[in-house]
Amino acid sequence: MLWLDNIQEYEQVRKDIQDKIQKIRRQIQITAKNCNRDPNSIQLLLVTKNVPAWKIQIALELGERLIGENRVQELKEKHESLKHLPHTTHFIGRLQSNKIKDAIRYANCIQSIDNKELAEKIQRKLEEQNKTIQAFIQINTSGETTKQGISPEEALELAKYIKTLDRIQLTGLMTIGIHSTNLDEVRMCFRRLKQVQEILQNHGYPILELSMGMSSDFSIAIEEGSTMVRIGTAIFGSRS
Ligand SMILES: *Cc1c(COP(=O)(O)O)cnc(C)c1O
Repeated sequence: MLWLDNIQEYEQVRKDIQDKIQKIRRQIQITAKNCNRDPNSIQLLLVTKNVPAWKIQIALELGERLIGENRVQELKEKHESLKHLPHTTHFIGRLQSNKIKDAIRYANCIQSIDNKELAEKIQRKLEEQNKTIQAFIQINTSGETTKQGISPEEALELAKYIKTLDRIQLTGLMTIGIHSTNLDEVRMCFRRLKQVQEILQNHGYPILELSMGMSSDFSIAIEEGSTMVRIGTAIFGSRS
């Protein structure tokens, strides 16, 4: 490849990414089978923040189709290098008002809506671009003040509000499990997200996706009903 003078190094990186994707996919399969779930009901989203476009290209060439970015600037910068490869991009980070325009231009889904003002601003920008977009509500299931997300108790009201916004299709919920070595606490976060899904479904909202589980906790998330695991470091290595 032209952008690397060392072809051997490129092949090594490619092999490494391939092996790691296979390993994660095998683990998803095993975990799903062990809890009587259909492995095909769980999507793998590759978290590509801080990952250079040429490595993401490798993953897409290997057949991956779903990636996630948490910064609009990166989303925009990589778009040009990736657009010839079929894929879907989800935005999974904090979305600032002045970045909404580009976020909805380059992402297919916003996973991080957690307040009415943000939803309303996204609606307005979608009207300007004459577009619609899929969206998830981000829920803070751990109670950690450092984490984004609306509280589980307020999710229904936000869903009701989003329903009045005709450009936003609410199809899922997203959460980040607590950062803890106590796996029961991690599991409780995922269980809370599932409970919120059930409440919303009982009120008639077609919430199909539960985006939960990262490199360190995706097996637990699958056991608790995740339909989309978001994996970064376990595939692309540490981001330092
Ligand atoms: C970075 C990030 C991930 C991936 O985390 P890893 O531990 O690298 O797998 C998942 N979700 C969100 C929202 C992230 O910001």
